[in-house]
Amino acid sequence: MWNSHFISIRWEKVWLLPYKFVIPNKLKEVQYKIIFIPLTNVSKCVDIDKKCEFCKDKEETIIHLFFECHYTAVFYKKMKDFSNTQSNYKIKLDAKTIILYNVNKIQKVQQVVSLMILLGKFHLHKAEFLRSQPSFQPFRLEFKNYFECIQRKNDKKCADTANVLKDFWKGTLTVCCLFWLFPFYSIYLNLTSELCLVFNFLNCICFFMLLRILLSYISEIAL
Ligand SMILES: [Zn+2]
Repeated sequence: MWNSHFISIRWEKVWLLPYKFVIPNKLKEVQYKIIFIPLTNVSKCVDIDKKCEFCKDKEETIIHLFFECHYTAVFYKKMKDFSNTQSNYKIKLDAKTIILYNVNKIQKVQQVVSLMILLGKFHLHKAEFLRSQPSFQPFRLEFKNYFECIQRKNDKKCADTANVLKDFWKGTLTVCCLFWLFPFYSIYLNLTSELCLVFNFLNCICFFMLLRILLSYISEIAL
């Protein structure tokens, strides 16, 4: 059924995705329901005119609820901004990536984005069930709790996931700090003025990136 929506689906990736992480069975169940419930209506034809719980306007199909709805789009936009601010990696969240699976040349980016989307879809599912709307701040707390939980577990898969997450987030800080040291090592490298200009420009960008990270940490503490 999804073959008419997306090209070149690698179904083995769809099947195996929930087993790449230690996640609750309920979350696995939600992922499979999203993929295998008919595309027509979430409420499985009991009430074919059911409106979306979020916008109360459009028909509540899987693709609408988990991707197209305005409230869902805002939720994923915030997820993307959060990820782009706190790491060096720019991620894209299109329909195939969200509904089925995520592909990235960098293994750790693929893993982190896949995990965030899985947890994000679970958040959307819970919001729909509770007849509320998705919200990114509670999701951040859920994500943080999940991270703390897998860190405490004595399990190899949990430890691997926790390490990938730590590695993903710390990348920005490393790069920013390296550029901030520029005034010190530029003296020894005897760089040309043009190169100095480029490095100083990058230095300014790093300053704003660090400022954004700092602000996001402050807002997290304020939660
Ligand atoms: Zn909607």
